[in-house]
Amino acid sequence: MGDLEVLTPLINSQDSLCSQDQISNPETTNAWGRLYPENECLKIEDLVKDNYNAGRQTNDVDFQFTKQCFSLKVMNHISKIHFTINREKIGTLDHVVFITDTSANGTFLNGEKIGKDNRWILSNNDKISIVSKTNYVYTFTDKRSDYLNCPQKVREQFAVYGVLGRGTFGEVRLAFEKKTSKCFALKKVNRESCIVLREPDILSSLSHPNIVNMENFIDTTDAIYITLEYMPGGTLKQLIENTKRLKESESKIILYQVARAVQYLHNRSIAHRDLKPGNILLSYKSPLSVVKLADFGLSKKITENTHLKTFCGSLAYLAPEVFSNRKLVTQSCINYTNKVDSWSFGVILYECLSGHKPFVGDHIEEKIIKGVYNLSKLKLFNTSNVAQDIIKQLLTIDYNIRFDFDKILKHTWFEKDLLMKEKVGNLMAEFSNSLMPSHKYSSNKENVAKKIKFCSCLAQDTCSESIRT
Ligand code: AMP
Repeated sequence: MGDLEVLTPLINSQDSLCSQDQISNPETTNAWGRLYPENECLKIEDLVKDNYNAGRQTNDVDFQFTKQCFSLKVMNHISKIHFTINREKIGTLDHVVFITDTSANGTFLNGEKIGKDNRWILSNNDKISIVSKTNYVYTFTDKRSDYLNCPQKVREQFAVYGVLGRGTFGEVRLAFEKKTSKCFALKKVNRESCIVLREPDILSSLSHPNIVNMENFIDTTDAIYITLEYMPGGTLKQLIENTKRLKESESKIILYQVARAVQYLHNRSIAHRDLKPGNILLSYKSPLSVVKLADFGLSKKITENTHLKTFCGSLAYLAPEVFSNRKLVTQSCINYTNKVDSWSFGVILYECLSGHKPFVGDHIEEKIIKGVYNLSKLKLFNTSNVAQDIIKQLLTIDYNIRFDFDKILKHTWFEKDLLMKEKVGNLMAEFSNSLMPSHKYSSNKENVAKKIKFCSCLAQDTCSESIRT
């Protein structure tokens, strides 16, 4: 699809006041957005700069409202600068477009008054009116936003931008809540996936500084959209790929936070079941980061009546008993425990320290079941004996003696390192202070829990053969 087509707004041709000549103006190709006139005296405006203002003032106004366009009564209510449009870069990602109402008598977006000095997100097909809600001036189109793929229920609340990442059950995009400008990671989970409501169900019961916070979710016919706290630093997987391997001190800062998150989960009888670097999110693109555990799509609450017996997770991080269980499940239905997370944690630690996974290549399943891995790789990088010891305790085949997360956190490698703990404390404080007030998250968990109850088809553990490679 060419640029011009993308820029064409979703309005009936008879509603639009633009002529075909205006639409095919070749100047548009560098524009990041466009204002289509809703008043016959105004013209198409291609948006190329980052800041624009509109009003009746003659100087310093990019889009001027004159008496040729409006009645005297309306003109008397138009402010010198009535509204501004700004494009700002957020983090390392997309630009986001804002409209600010600077008027005395009101700027309206899709018929709703923005309010003096309030700033709302401006997104595709939003209609701007001034003085009264029916006095339309422009329809805005954003060249980059492919919001058209989102259901209306989502579009009404969020301006949806680029893809942050893709998981097994759907994609995650950067999104801004239109009225608050709060930034989120919007995760789409397709309805056909049997775990559709598992993640919001589990996340709504959790509150921990090292677990990604869920604000809410939107239930639509084809998918649910989960609004998650946005972590701008990418994933541990990307960090390892970029730096090849991490220093022991850096690995410890990251894994200490992960261990605290998993200990919290296990204390609540929840197994994550898909611990891997791609599910560990960072606040900065650096090992000196706040770390949050994400992707609870395969997590499971263990109660007296439910046990873990599903063959699921990501192959290289799977514990040996998960494979054994797969073979035996039809015969005697042997259950495994949340110690599968301890094993995956050991694999991640090995990978951070060496830049390689301990179990790879052909016959990986056999290697995992036998627990065959190469410690000499770690010695090569001068990994301390105490770090090698914690790996041994984690990559232990017998899960009865494998360390749980209480023991992991009490291991000398973590417990004796007070400097590391202080650094983590400082990072957490710094990250929390760096969030703009509008980006701080309110607790909405009670409402979310109620909503889940109302939603039909609460996820059952029916995914009998779910595996990620
Ligand atoms: P998931 O489906 O939860 O595994 O997410 C897939 C990918 O989306 C992850 O590997 C990240 O790259 C990205 N992602 C997920 N959640 C977030 C978030 N809260 N903030 C930033 N990126 C995220």
